[in-house]
Amino acid sequence: MHAGFPDFRLGSVLATSFTGTLTERRGDAVERIPTPQRLIDWLAEYGLAVDSCTTAQLDLARELRESIHAAATAAAIQDALPASALHVINDRSAQGRAAAALTPEGERRWQLGSASPVEDALGVIAADAISVIAGERDGRLALCASPTCQAAFFDTSRSRTRRWCDMNTCGNRQKKARFTANHRENPSSAR
Ligand SMILES: [Zn+2]
Repeated sequence: MHAGFPDFRLGSVLATSFTGTLTERRGDAVERIPTPQRLIDWLAEYGLAVDSCTTAQLDLARELRESIHAAATAAAIQDALPASALHVINDRSAQGRAAAALTPEGERRWQLGSASPVEDALGVIAADAISVIAGERDGRLALCASPTCQAAFFDTSRSRTRRWCDMNTCGNRQKKARFTANHRENPSSAR
């Protein structure tokens, strides 16, 4: 499916999974929503299905993404929240018209309006970011320990000691690097 485009990293927290559509910000950045269609695909993964998306809406989405990244990073290091980022997040939140609906199975579904579903979906993401950054949820914002990543992620582990935004990518790479370094320093202790 959609060969040639980078895979998504689907985390459990909507807002920080969204910022994870751009990875390796401090290295060779990987854009995981390079086209409007890939934003459509990503939104569908999170129950925010839209039929269409323009390049202008993709630009709005990326602007929101980088604003959430900036605000979440500041929150993680207990820095002042950047005003420009707050402006974008609050604007997107205010302009979303999504309604939460409860299904018979007891699950929450988002109902996006017919007039501007992409904006509505972005409103849901902005509101999620607000609840995470405001500290309303059980967890802690932290920065990924990978030097080429440093993504803000939401640590919900019991001990609050998670070090990487994603165990399968950044976490693994770090472990491999450490193994290689140890191996080089002390070849006899291999494996
Ligand atoms: Zn990372």
